[in-house]
Formats: sequence, structure tokens, C-alpha cells
Amino acid sequence: MDADVAVVGLGSMGSMAAWQLAAAGTDVLAFEQFGIGDRRTAAGGESRALFRALEPRTGPTPLVDRAIQLWEQLEEESGHSLYVRSGTLVIGKRSSARMRALVDLAGGGRGLEVLDHLETRRRYPAHIVGPDDLAVFENQGGALRSEPAVVAAARLAGKRGARFVTGHPVTRIESGPAGVTLEAGGRTYRARKAVVTPGLWTSTLLPELAPHVVTRRCALSWWAANDPALFTPERFPCFVRESAGRARSGAEYFGMPALDGSSVKFAKLDTYGLVAPTDRLDQYLEDAVIETDRARLRESLTGLHDYPHRIHVAMEGFTADGAPVIGPLPGRENVIVAAGFSGGGFRIASAMGEVLAGIATSGTVPESVAGLSVERFAAARS
Ligand SMILES: Cc1cc2nc3c(=O)[nH]c(=O)nc-3n(C[C@H](O)[C@H](O)[C@H](O)COP(=O)(O)OP(=O)(O)OC[C@H]3O[C@@H](n4cnc5c(N)ncnc54)[C@H](O)[C@@H]3O)c2cc1C
Repeated sequence: MDADVAVVGLGSMGSMAAWQLAAAGTDVLAFEQFGIGDRRTAAGGESRALFRALEPRTGPTPLVDRAIQLWEQLEEESGHSLYVRSGTLVIGKRSSARMRALVDLAGGGRGLEVLDHLETRRRYPAHIVGPDDLAVFENQGGALRSEPAVVAAARLAGKRGARFVTGHPVTRIESGPAGVTLEAGGRTYRARKAVVTPGLWTSTLLPELAPHVVTRRCALSWWAANDPALFTPERFPCFVRESAGRARSGAEYFGMPALDGSSVKFAKLDTYGLVAPTDRLDQYLEDAVIETDRARLRESLTGLHDYPHRIHVAMEGFTADGAPVIGPLPGRENVIVAAGFSGGGFRIASAMGEVLAGIATSGTVPESVAGLSVERFAAARS
């Protein structure tokens, strides 16, 4: 045996799993096809938003609070600033179902504040709002520095004894009652269990998941601030702007404070269609897309240059129901998978590391991820 647990894919989830496993004293051998922290993974592009109760896609989930504790722990153990506590803001029409639901949620306390348009303008002068608009602010949540967080978790895993095989993809995983056999870079490795977190390359490595985890293209863009002081994390929380009259979340935009000290990230929550998994990421973004983003930016924010100086095109694994696939993989004994985080997984990655480490060492799937097995898709068809 080369290790107790092999971790395949040291991106967002895999690095956190390796950190948790190594911290618990487990002998870990971790595989990454690129270098650790590569821009082509789903963690690429500077930062990820952490919405807690105000999460636009899934609503609050029990994993998020644990994730926040673990992000704080990762910061402390690594000594790096990884979690920027800007708070989060949702802005939308006061008549919309979403905003009405958020106002009800805020009525229960929970650290949520409802702001009318005048108060929103006073506190956040960069946001363009009218009398029909309402904002809900949550003092928890903010921005995660995603690539450094992946690197920090992997480094901590290394300090606790995890070993790494980088620069070669795992090309074969075979398993049985005695353990798992993996091939990478022309060598064969053996482990008792494998935690497999291949992100957008899931269908390549685990073809049986191809019908359930597809790869989609997403894009982020950065817009220079005229006065960067208005866009610091203290004055400009991560936000989602609901689109008037549109029910689909795809019409919504989100943004982040100026983490680089000079520019704001502003991007559509939706994706730009299916693509085949690739390690040659095409960074071209169509002019028509940029034009639509510009128009939306002009309606939503003031004080930003109206052309993006930076664009990051990325990919991510998506499932049909938007929830990830987590747990033991049917038909592959001793293999645990986590994939298909569908554009919203980074905020819970720290907690997912703990969940995956727990499944690998105890064999038990915790309540928080019960029901996320790939078998749910077969059950839905029958
Ligand atoms: C543009 C964009 C914006 C997003 N915004 C947010 C946000 O604001 N908030 C949020 O919470 N989430 C957000 N997400 C989603 C979040 O980033 C992802 O859900 C999360 O990063 C997925 O983690 P993962 O571990 O599944 O994939 P990854 O982080 O991509 O990790 C997969 C790893 O596996 C490696 N790998 C794959 N195949 C092999 C192999 N055969 N052998 C060895 N290594 C392999 C890859 O190289 C990679 O390192 C966003 C995603 C994108 C793309």
C-alpha cells in the first residue's frame, strides 16, 4: 500500500479533504494533474463569494456555518488572509417574491437588515437604486481568496505528512474490496480508499458520471474603479442584483469588492453553455456578452470604468438539479466522489473537506450530505 487514502484532484474540494485527512493523522497521497492552485481549475479567477442566509441559488444550508468556522481556522493555521468579511447584500424589487421572502427571513433577526432605497444609497453610494428597490444586508459572509485558499490547505496537508504527485493526470482508477489502484505518469499506486474530486474533468476520469455531471463555461470580468475607496470590502459588500421582472436566476449579476485595491468583479450568475472538459481553456469572450454586461453594469453601479480590463473564462461541473454528487460511488468499492458543484461550491469547500475525510475514515455518510448520492438520478427516472 502507498497510502491509506488517495485524494485525486487537489482543487477546491480535494485540497480541503487532504488538509482534513492529514490533520487527523491519515496517511495521504494526493494527485493533481497540474500544479497546485492552477488557474484552469474551478477555483481560478481570484475570489469566490460566500453568501450565507442570502445565498441566491440554494438558500441557507447547514454546511455553510461549519464552512465559515473552517475558513477561519484555515486562515489562522496558514497565517494568510483568505476570508474577507465584507458581508453580503441582495438588491431587488420590493415586490419580487425573492425580496419578500428575504424580508420575512430578516424579520426573524439572524443578522439580516432590510434597507430601503434611501438607506441603501446612503450606505452604498455606488449602487444605483430607485424607490421600488430594497436591499437586504447580512453581516456574515464575504469573499474568499480562492486560489490562495487551495494552496494554503495543500501546504498544511503537506506539513502534516501528505505526499503529492503533481503534473500528471490520474488516468485509471480500479477498485475492489482490498483497495484502490491508480495510474498516473506511467506509475501504479495503491491506497485503501480514494477520495475523487475531479471538478469539471469528472466525465473524463469517471465516465459513468458523464450523464450526470456536465461541463459548462462561465466568465468573470473586472472593472476599474474611479475612486477605489468606495469599493473597499468595508464599504462595498459582495452583492447579488436581482433582475427586475425576471424569474430565472440566470438574469442576475453578482459582484465583489475591490480585493486587488482597484477593480470590482461583476459577472452574470448564469453560464455560457456546455463545453467538453479541456486543459486548454479558451479565454475569448464574445463582444456581445461584454456589451450585455456593460449595459447591466451601467444600470446597476456608478463609479466604474465601463469596459472590463480583465476577463477570466472558466469551467465548472454542473448537475441537472444544481446539487453536487457526494458519497461512495456505486460500482467502485472504496471510492468516494464529490463533483458537480454547479457554480456554487467554493463557499462550502472547507466543510466538504471535513465531510469527505469523515466518509473516507469512518465509512459513514453524514446527514448534511445524505440524499446527494448519484443514485438520486436513477431514482428520479424510475
Ligand atoms: C467562474 C466561476 C465563478 C464561481 N463563483 C462562485 C462563487 O462566487 N461562490 C461559490 O461558492 N462558488 C463559486 N463557483 C463554484 C466553485 O468555484 C466550484 O463549485 C468549486 O471550485 C468546485 O470545486 P471542485 O473541487 O469540484 O473543482 P476544482 O476546484 O476544479 O478541482 C478539481 C481538481 O481536480 C484536478 N483533476 C481533474 N482530473 C484529474 C485527474 N484525472 N488527475 C489528477 N487531477 C485531476 C483538477 O486539475 C483540479 O485541480 C464559481 C465557479 C466558477 C467557474
